[in-house]
Amino acid sequence: MVREEKEVLEIIKKKITKHESFDIVPTLCGTTTYYKRTCSYCYRHHKFMTPKQVSTKGCLGKQCHHIIRLEHQYWIERALKKESKKNKA
Ligand SMILES: [Zn+2]
Repeated sequence: MVREEKEVLEIIKKKITKHESFDIVPTLCGTTTYYKRTCSYCYRHHKFMTPKQVSTKGCLGKQCHHIIRLEHQYWIERALKKESKKNKA
């Protein structure tokens, strides 16, 4: 990633993490939801995603790599799941 791109990312990140828990934000599905319910933001589509959207028809499935992870329980659970799979193998 080039330096300029990184700086732009930081600016976007600062902007979106300023949201309050109960702010209404647009999601990838064309609906709206509370900011606290979203776990990621796509800076190409300019939309937020809930954990459900991420795991079903989110940008991840579309090979869109313009996702910013927000602080959300989802990512912690995801990492834990991955970890427990590793331990089983
Ligand atoms: Zn996207």
